[in-house]
Amino acid sequence: AAKKDGKNTYKIYQTDFSEDIVRKLDILQALRQAIKNNESLTLHYQPIVDDKKIVGFEALLRWNDPTLGFLSPAEFIPIAEESGLIIPLGEWVVRTACTAFNELYKNSEYMPYLSVNVSTKQFEQDHCVSKLKKILEETNFNPENLKIELTESIMMKDVEKIIEKLNQLRASGIGVFLDDFGTGYSSLSYLGVLPINTLKIDQSFVQNINDSAQEAIVRTIILMAESLEKGIIAEGVEEVGQLEYLKNLGCQHFQGYLYSKPVPFEEIPNLLNKEIHK
Ligand code: C2E
Ligand code: MG
Ligand code: MG
Ligand code: MG
Repeated sequence: AAKKDGKNTYKIYQTDFSEDIVRKLDILQALRQAIKNNESLTLHYQPIVDDKKIVGFEALLRWNDPTLGFLSPAEFIPIAEESGLIIPLGEWVVRTACTAFNELYKNSEYMPYLSVNVSTKQFEQDHCVSKLKKILEETNFNPENLKIELTESIMMKDVEKIIEKLNQLRASGIGVFLDDFGTGYSSLSYLGVLPINTLKIDQSFVQNINDSAQEAIVRTIILMAESLEKGIIAEGVEEVGQLEYLKNLGCQHFQGYLYSKPVPFEEIPNLLNKEIHK
């Protein structure tokens, strides 16, 4: 029977394959429109906390397209990267988030930092840093309050160039986080020389932290960060048990559903007003 099905199986595969492509093209076209019209894209913000308070927020893209419905960044960010749309999209994110946070700072007693994801594709662009600085000037945003999140895949690029750009960021006061740390290609020898402020431990390690092998990895990352004088943020903290584990290992900054899901901008004041006792 398996042999008889051979042809059909091939057909099914072929259909799935072309459906994939059609879906991609639909997303690409819709995303182009969304960026142009500035309507269906928004940002949500997720708190990053220490023991007592919110220290910062990460901006995360949300896209509810009128025809395609809600799309996950995991689906549309790779398409934006492949197509180059990540450049205007990434700039929109920085501009929108900085404008929003200026509003927040006007009405808030203290100033949690703003962290934005910058894709490797975007960071590779020659003028990425000057573009970032220009947006900060235009929005009149204090660079000291901005962090950018890069992933380890930047280490696979021209490292000399990357270091130069990271130094430019540092000189301008913008902080740099290394996102999803531990999941990608991380060259430990580069890690020592890259001017990066903070490592964000990927949520996959946090979620399996009661597994002794995973715990050993987290312990090692934290020790390494300490000796390299880099900060640590644990991502994806969902349970008190995970939090206790991480605290015992010396981790001091956390992000995850345990505190809050990413929320619309309007809800930030509520989060800031409510004290954290966890
Ligand atoms: P990321 O930068 O590592 O962001 C963290 C992701 O984990 C977010 O997913 C967040 O909603 C989710 N998360 C936070 N806490 C928890 C938790 O306790 N449990 C679980 N299971 N998940 C948690 P999201 O918003 O779907 O974003 C996925 C990825 O898409 C991001 O991963 C980032 O790589 C990318 N992304 C999102 N917004 C942007 C953006 O503006 N620009 C770029 N270049 N990439 C973005
Ligand atoms: Mg991130
Ligand atoms: Mg991450
Ligand atoms: Mg991630």
